Amino acid sequence: MSKTGYSRVLLKVSGEVLAGDQSYGIEPKVLDDIAGQVVALVGLGVEVAVVIGAGNIVRGMTIAAKGGDRVIGDHMGMLGTVINSLALGDAIRRAGGRSHVFSQVSMPSICDTFTQRAAIAALEGGAVVICAGGTGNPFFTTDTAAALKAIELRCDVLLKGTKVDGVYSADPEIDPTATRFETISHEQVIAQDLRVMDTAAFALARDNGLPIIVYALSDEQGLVGVIEGRTPSTRVG
Ligand code: UDP
Repeated sequence: MSKTGYSRVLLKVSGEVLAGDQSYGIEPKVLDDIAGQVVALVGLGVEVAVVIGAGNIVRGMTIAAKGGDRVIGDHMGMLGTVINSLALGDAIRRAGGRSHVFSQVSMPSICDTFTQRAAIAALEGGAVVICAGGTGNPFFTTDTAAALKAIELRCDVLLKGTKVDGVYSADPEIDPTATRFETISHEQVIAQDLRVMDTAAFALARDNGLPIIVYALSDEQGLVGVIEGRTPSTRVG
């Protein structure tokens, strides 16, 4: 156990975040910032796994909305997560950390295929484990992959960075009277219809007792601040 009280965490990074101010692709400054934050967390003795989305490259639903095949679009989306994962793995190495990219979609000439055993061994060896390829199945999201991998890898918590600094009683961008929860149970989130992640992801987290910390990606104290409890956030569970 690290002095933060957390041994192993999983960070979900959405693809959109990687694009920074652009609508497409990877903004190097954002990539390096995330890599630096992850390496700082490892420096505190916390084992870190990461799941990245691909909204900055392609989403299956967007392809389907334009008349394309949803399954092929989802395959494209999963491949997009591999591109993002390779980029983050490389940035982590440049930031002085060690990284190991695993993919749920086998592509052995590029990265190792995900197995729970190999990923846990890599975490125990001090590498940041980046889980690419989502769940490996169409019709799922990387939020669901993040919940799944956090449970499989026995993480203490799933860290979900968003535009706002936690879960609110209503949408704070619309309702100025909305208040932020410090803590809330999975059941309360469902009963009050507060969206934290998509339904499949949230159900998986609830059924397996996986806590989720929702925090603002823009917070200056970064991931270390979140884990040390200095940054405003909401803990679900
Ligand atoms: N995807 C998929 N199965 C998965 C995870 C992702 O088919 O298990 C595809 C899907 O098309 C999705 C895209 O990959 O839209 C990118 O993932 P996501 O939308 O979760 O990315 P984010 O919103 O986090 O950037």
